[in-house]
Amino acid sequence: MDLPVDEWKSYVFQKWSLLPKSIQVTISTAETLSDIFLHSSLLLQPEDEMFLQNLSRGYLVEKDPNAPLFYREEGNKKFQQKDYMGATVLYSKGISHSRPHTADISLCYANRSAALFHLGQHEMCLKDIMRAQMHGYPERLQPKMMLRKAECLVTLGRRQEASQTISDLESSFSAKPTLAAAQFQILQTNLCRLKMKAQEKESLTETFPAALTKALEDMDLKGENGQVPSASSSVSLRTDPLRGRYLVATKDILPGELLVKEDAFVSVLHPGEMPPLRHLESKWDTRVTNGDLYCHRCLDHTLATVPCDGCSYAKYCSHDCMQQAWDLYHSVECSLGGLLLTLGVFCHIALRSTLVARFEDASKVIRKLCSEIRNRDTCSPERETLVQTLTCDLGGESENKGKMLEPPVPGCDLNGKYESNYNAVFHLLPHTGNHSPEHRFLCALSVSALCRRLEAAGCYKPAAAVPPGSGSELDVWGVAMLKHVLQLQCNAQAITTIQHTGSKENSVTNSRQVRLATGIFPVISLLNHSCSPNTSVSFISNVATVRASQQIGKGQEILHCYGPHQSRMRAAERQQKLRSQYFFDCSCAACQNEKHSAATGPRWEAFCCRSCGALMQGDDVLICGSTSCMESVSRDHLISRLQDLQQQVGMARKLLRNDKPERAIQLLLGCQRDAQSFLSGEHSLVGEMEDDLAQAYAALGDWQKSATHLQKSLQVVEVRHGPSSVEMGHELFKLAQLFFNGSRALGSTLKPRGPHLGQKQGRPHLRQLGIALHAIRMFQQDTDKSIPTRPSFL
Ligand SMILES: [Zn+2]
Ligand SMILES: [Zn+2]
Ligand SMILES: [Zn+2]
Ligand SMILES: [Zn+2]
Repeated sequence: MDLPVDEWKSYVFQKWSLLPKSIQVTISTAETLSDIFLHSSLLLQPEDEMFLQNLSRGYLVEKDPNAPLFYREEGNKKFQQKDYMGATVLYSKGISHSRPHTADISLCYANRSAALFHLGQHEMCLKDIMRAQMHGYPERLQPKMMLRKAECLVTLGRRQEASQTISDLESSFSAKPTLAAAQFQILQTNLCRLKMKAQEKESLTETFPAALTKALEDMDLKGENGQVPSASSSVSLRTDPLRGRYLVATKDILPGELLVKEDAFVSVLHPGEMPPLRHLESKWDTRVTNGDLYCHRCLDHTLATVPCDGCSYAKYCSHDCMQQAWDLYHSVECSLGGLLLTLGVFCHIALRSTLVARFEDASKVIRKLCSEIRNRDTCSPERETLVQTLTCDLGGESENKGKMLEPPVPGCDLNGKYESNYNAVFHLLPHTGNHSPEHRFLCALSVSALCRRLEAAGCYKPAAAVPPGSGSELDVWGVAMLKHVLQLQCNAQAITTIQHTGSKENSVTNSRQVRLATGIFPVISLLNHSCSPNTSVSFISNVATVRASQQIGKGQEILHCYGPHQSRMRAAERQQKLRSQYFFDCSCAACQNEKHSAATGPRWEAFCCRSCGALMQGDDVLICGSTSCMESVSRDHLISRLQDLQQQVGMARKLLRNDKPERAIQLLLGCQRDAQSFLSGEHSLVGEMEDDLAQAYAALGDWQKSATHLQKSLQVVEVRHGPSSVEMGHELFKLAQLFFNGSRALGSTLKPRGPHLGQKQGRPHLRQLGIALHAIRMFQQDTDKSIPTRPSFL
């Protein structure tokens, strides 16, 4: 997904292998990015472009005039089945294929407003009603929609507007007396109901998640950092030859403290986990993807997307977002959808970064790049210095011009300030020499093809800032994009979100982390990696926040994890991943520790002795770890028992899904007895079974038992992911739901017990509560209706 599609990759690799040795050598040994780009660019033939164009055609990115009717009818089917969520998405797809001011678009908006109404999304419903009218919704269908509008307004407590809408309706009826009688009757009944609803509304107080979110939204950085504006004053930017640029704590930091809050410089939404359909397979796609649920600009979750007027793939949370995206970059990207999907997210981010940069300090950046190209024939240390000097000049204040001050850290301006801007992006390391020659060729050829298309589409306009005779400006643009593509391998940040599975009223919901987009965050890029980091990163829309996940002492480095976390991978696997993607050998504390510790494996994968319960050790044949016990068993035997057990648990889950919680519980309790005879108490399957039991009891409304099992599952999660992990936050959030549901069901205050949320020495465990809040905040993105209102223990 990040890189170009496989067909194009293998096509380019083959092209590379067929190149004359001398040309391969020229490109492999080229010293600058501009040399790599220009040599590769010359090799791009019309037939290559043809091949790429054919691949791009496989993506349906244009508006198909026949699609709106199809999607509307599919949506109506879902609507009739009361699957309002499914209907909403299908109507959105219909909208994205409709042209503005057509019957198609107004009917789709109107239908979507009805689905949103049933989902309780009243604000969104109102917006869709407005949109339907704006695009010319037929007069004869108006009354029903107006009634929906009035009902929304009442529910939202906007009574003045509601009565205005109702009196408008009344007068439109009286203008058409033939219609009035039956309709009026319905109107009267509804009006009565609406008035009662309005009174109820007033007695409701703010809901639990809403109140919490507000509290958390207000939580800002603790004092502005003069040097790094997106970071808190508790950290400071340093540099040394070994670690490069990094952040250290300037004071003792407590767990949960917000350290960085940074907007993505740019982000690109992932089209989804499923591969896009090719024209051949089916004409229209009814599957739900990220592209249907998240704004293409700000990444906000939304059920009511507004499409680009020109294409069917770019959808936004609002008209504002659409306009901003258009002004910044989409006016160029709009016609390139298929090509950008073929070339992958990295190419897309590279293009978007340069487009966004036009509005920032583009002229300075282009000036720098021109000089780099101008000097490409003089490959000398002096050239390097010149480029460096010009680089340093970027973003400098005018009063400092000509002084040639050396900024303290690369990427900073002359005043030593490191901002989340294009200058900082430009200074992220591309590690050019570490990429294989084939990979560099793939990236260069892909960017060249993109440049040709930009030229053909008339997207490229000469900039006044370029000195004459400094080479083609389009080449300058290409070199900048190539640099970004290469940088992204080490500097791209996956933007993730939490998605719920099996959400059901009043039961405990499950969630998983999914990748939503890829972005560039220049400040977060300053953080070095650790397999057991002291921070955790989370996202709200395209804003990233980094919080301390444990106590960090003054002078200690702020570390985050690039992906290979010690809780998910063994040291050898992590080392291999970090070396191949990030080009370094990890020597973090976790890696050092693992090198020295015995090879018993992690506790969440451990087997225990059937006679004494001690942990088993060894490779093919496992021997009891207790010196007084002689038990031994083959690993294969234990693995096959584990597989049997997993199968049983799978069956229990199926029962649970099919609304047979009693039978699921019976099966799970049997599994538990079996597990006790050979799995460690902290084995992840043991934890999962506790979680399943919690869900089953919750489904039966037995909150107390449910909470007991969830607390056991919590202990396993803590062993595996650590007490301050996001995973722990999710589990705690479930527990919070349970306590809330429990107290509501029993009509009493059910006090939580156990070491986690319990009354440790008479007061709640604040740190973990903080992490639970952190998780809740992430849950907020999904405006999930199953999130309960205020729990009793807060
Ligand atoms: Zn948006
Ligand atoms: Zn578009
Ligand atoms: Zn490590
Ligand atoms: Zn034993």
